[in-house]
Amino acid sequence: MARYTGPVCRICRRESMKLFLKGEKCFTKCTFEKRSSPPGMHQQRRRKVSDFALQLREKQKARRMYGVLERQMKNTFDRAAEVTGATGETLLINLETRLDNTVYRSGFAKSRSQARQLVTHGHITVNGRETKTPSYTVKAGDAIAVSEKSRGSNYFKEMTAWAKTQTRPGWLEVDPDAYTAKVLAAPSRDQIEAQVNTQLIVEHYSR
Ligand code: SF4
Repeated sequence: MARYTGPVCRICRRESMKLFLKGEKCFTKCTFEKRSSPPGMHQQRRRKVSDFALQLREKQKARRMYGVLERQMKNTFDRAAEVTGATGETLLINLETRLDNTVYRSGFAKSRSQARQLVTHGHITVNGRETKTPSYTVKAGDAIAVSEKSRGSNYFKEMTAWAKTQTRPGWLEVDPDAYTAKVLAAPSRDQIEAQVNTQLIVEHYSR
């Protein structure tokens, strides 16, 4: 499936905020902290920003933060719109409970793209079954684990130490030494770190 393969830090400059797409480098040598102007030759010009542009940027920000393609984002929005309740909040919860994001938030990967790779390469199990679908939606009670065959690798030994240093959201219970994470409940909006105005995304897709 086609994915963006250009300069990653450029995306943060485009969205005017740190999106933490590069793992450890985002905490140690962040390019955005040195240069935060939008990319492109003519971006310094002041111009009036339309409502459409604002809504589009917010949608793009969320999409790039979670590393999903446009079609996946639209499908996730459509699923959220079918559920009773605030569509924007449900959309964000659906993105947050993707398996790749859950692996990332558990501390077993330093970025969401790294977590996606772990899932697609078969290193992650859900309730004891190998699950290679990054978009798989985890539910309360699900047990996420590093597969038995992968636990001895140097990568996961290093990640155990990393996971112990990470702040985890209240909806996940992680045991780095056992290579496991348990979903305690669906995340609430205040447990999701993403600084996204979901109302603008809803307006974008409702045009
Ligand atoms: Fe964004 Fe990370 Fe690059 Fe900083 S280092 S600009 S947070 S991807």
